[in-house]
Amino acid sequence: MRAPSLRLHHRAERSLTRRHPWIFSGGVAEVRGEPAVGETVEVLAPDGESLALAAYSPHSQIRARVWSFDPEVAIDEAFFRHRLERAIAARGESARAPDGGCRLVYAESDGLPGLIVDRYGEFAVCQFLSAGAERWRDAVTSVLVELLGPRGLWERSDVGARRQEGLDLRAGCLAGEEPPERIEIDEDGLRLLVDVRQGHKTGTYLDQRPNRLRFRSDASGREVLDVFAFTGGFSLAALAGGAASVMQVEDSAAALQQCLEQAAANGFDADRLEQAQGNAFSLLRRLLSEGRRFDAIVLDPPKFVTSRGRIEQAARGYKDINRLSFLLLRPGGLLYTFSCSGLLEPALFQKIVADAALDARVEAQIVERLGQAPDHPTLLSFPEATYLKGFVCRVLSSG
Ligand code: SAH
Repeated sequence: MRAPSLRLHHRAERSLTRRHPWIFSGGVAEVRGEPAVGETVEVLAPDGESLALAAYSPHSQIRARVWSFDPEVAIDEAFFRHRLERAIAARGESARAPDGGCRLVYAESDGLPGLIVDRYGEFAVCQFLSAGAERWRDAVTSVLVELLGPRGLWERSDVGARRQEGLDLRAGCLAGEEPPERIEIDEDGLRLLVDVRQGHKTGTYLDQRPNRLRFRSDASGREVLDVFAFTGGFSLAALAGGAASVMQVEDSAAALQQCLEQAAANGFDADRLEQAQGNAFSLLRRLLSEGRRFDAIVLDPPKFVTSRGRIEQAARGYKDINRLSFLLLRPGGLLYTFSCSGLLEPALFQKIVADAALDARVEAQIVERLGQAPDHPTLLSFPEATYLKGFVCRVLSSG
């Protein structure tokens, strides 16, 4: 029996020949056979030529995600072993450090659409985010056990994006031992405590690691404000770098509590750390009206742009917090400002930050451009993999 297949419209064929791995519902001219959710389908050009093998997602606007542009290859456990081996090997030493944190598999960028694997010390955490990844869950689990030999493999497929794929949210143990409440990892000499059950993403934000390290030397001797602090990745970096003081602004009381644990685990003096729980937009205003000023501010907000229609609204949010931060900085102060909204182009983000400085009547320069950690690479044919961007801005002294 022939494998089920999708025949494309002309416009979708162009995107596929440029090796973009997504096929949108509007690009499908015909579905042949009755592919099940997540089943492998052959992708055909309008003239019937075979172009690729992809996972079928009948409930999603992204109707299929390409596994391979070689239609002759078999999509089976050996295929996943090969792709997983390739992804892990590409991470080099950092994949193997016994107490390190590292993204081992970054979905489309590693030729494994919908699959995320992060390692935290002896444990690994997986997310199966698409119908195709979900279908191969057992095979991926057994290959990861074979390749990594983890103490435990934990699943965090409790991500809203799964609903668009017609999948339920799920979390729990896939193999081996259940992870402890806190997994201790080493981040460039700092001890971090990761909660893979409740923590954001797979437990924490591995994507900011090099930027936190970069911040250490800049924080030396400065009064630091860490806004959207989560469990204090940047705050701990600042304390490690010799900041005079660190103030945190964060909505989640649990995240702030976890930061205190981490500060203690690293032997940092709690006197240097001040916490304010609540909404950053109002807390920044309050700090300003109280006359508080800082020498370095980190702005690492959650994703404001959740869809194209929200860009304008999100831009107002970004501008507001950046404007307030410029006002809170002393001359010579540094602003580490980030956006993790993939739909916000770097050029537009730069314009928003520029407008914020203008409104604050502050002259500032970009001294460095930052991005996501190298274990979150961007496949050239899939630019959507790039989402995190940041600027290090320096406020010039007035006059
Ligand atoms: N900088 C952190 C990651 C920040 S993630 C790190 O490197 O680990 C964004 C954080 O912003 C989350 O912890 C979330 O709880 C918090 N947050 C979201 N909206 C907020 C708001 N309006 N005010 C304050 N904190 C908010």
